[in-house]
Amino acid sequence: MPGGVNSPVRAFKSVGGQPIVIDSVKGSHMKDIDGNEYIDYVGSWGPAIIGHADDEVLAALAETMKKGTSFGAPCLLENVLAEMVISVVPSIEMVRFVNSGTEACMGVLRLARAFTGRQKVIKFEGCYHGHADAFLVKAGSGVATLGLPDSPGVPKAATSDTLTSPYNDIATVHSLFEANKGEIAAVILEPVVGNSGFIAPQPDFLNGLRKITKENDALLVFDEVMTGFRIAYGGAQEYFGITPDLTTLGKIIGGGLPVGAYGGRRDIMEMVAPAGPMYQAGTLSGNPLAMTAGIHTLKRLQEPGTYEYLDKITSELTQGILDAGKKTGHAICGGYISGMFGFFFTDGPVYNFEDAKKSDTTKFARFYRGMLEEGVYFAPSQFEAGFTSLAHSSGDIEQTISAAERVLRMYKLMLLALDWESFAGIFLDLVCFSSALVSFVHHPRTCHCL
Ligand SMILES: *Cc1c(COP(=O)(O)O)cnc(C)c1O
Repeated sequence: MPGGVNSPVRAFKSVGGQPIVIDSVKGSHMKDIDGNEYIDYVGSWGPAIIGHADDEVLAALAETMKKGTSFGAPCLLENVLAEMVISVVPSIEMVRFVNSGTEACMGVLRLARAFTGRQKVIKFEGCYHGHADAFLVKAGSGVATLGLPDSPGVPKAATSDTLTSPYNDIATVHSLFEANKGEIAAVILEPVVGNSGFIAPQPDFLNGLRKITKENDALLVFDEVMTGFRIAYGGAQEYFGITPDLTTLGKIIGGGLPVGAYGGRRDIMEMVAPAGPMYQAGTLSGNPLAMTAGIHTLKRLQEPGTYEYLDKITSELTQGILDAGKKTGHAICGGYISGMFGFFFTDGPVYNFEDAKKSDTTKFARFYRGMLEEGVYFAPSQFEAGFTSLAHSSGDIEQTISAAERVLRMYKLMLLALDWESFAGIFLDLVCFSSALVSFVHHPRTCHCL
């Protein structure tokens, strides 16, 4: 397997060392094949919001499995999950299930183009919308972590209609619309960025995008593959009170099995085959096991107090790490919303990917490896958000914060030692040089030491 992994974000290329091979997961913890335990803040990159291997989800999966694993024909469970999604995500009146977030984003792009009869789309630097050709332009996630240019193998024609703007920069979006009048099909974004680290939208950004797209008859697409059911039960669109035309989902709605979805306004969604002419299909789409895991994950999230709990522990965690930075003299900035958080090794503030890149990634790598030793598993990249779950206890959070403090303190001591060493080095050099100078002055002919 290239790089030893089946998805580049799992590799430890940017932090050093070999990826850890996981044997099993439960609640907030992961265990590797050598028997080491970790408090996990990756949560399978988002899906594990109620905790890993939840007993109720596992029991429901076992029941569904007795009836078979795939039908290739409609099953009732698809209706149940569709109803759950439609009833809470403000923009979604109709939904199509697929097998991954990438597929959802591919589908939504084709749909936006089919509906508007236009070709161009605007995306934002550092946002990730899966690995389809058209979106591999200034993409976030693994592309950002590995510092890759736009990927080879993507034909120029596939990205020539992809326009980019810095995140939180409404002026650039305005000028792109000016320069491409009547040609822009859609603006797509992560309403809260998680794929170049955690970056929140500025107060008027989402509103501004809603306004510009409306004025220009373009569609607004929220890629809520990460934020859907995480920022709030109805996603970022419920949290911020801004309704896009189309939405993509994934991660949480599959409860740890492969699922994606796209949905939105009925008049747009009726373009999708077989209701309409826009083609998109899938052998395993709406798979009964995946639907089951999604349904039971969402059911758990509907219980009262879940998002309040996520908010509480994530706030404690984020504040604790920021405080640890202060106490130990490291510049760290960061933030969180509900069960999603992130921090950068820079003074900040971070409004876009350019700001995020000012982060000290060497320091992050040190911190990362230190935390791993302490039994804390973060995403192995400065440019990925972290996730908490209902299974994370106050004890987990406290343990993580005190580990962070120890790791940061050790790192500071090491830096001081290095400083002392280089200071001592310069001092010795000076001593040698002056003694050489003295010899030269006294014996200019025979002295070769200078
Ligand atoms: C994870 C993610 C995707 C891609 O989903 P996959 O299931 O990995 O294909 C797309 N968009 C966003 C915002 C994501 O976080």
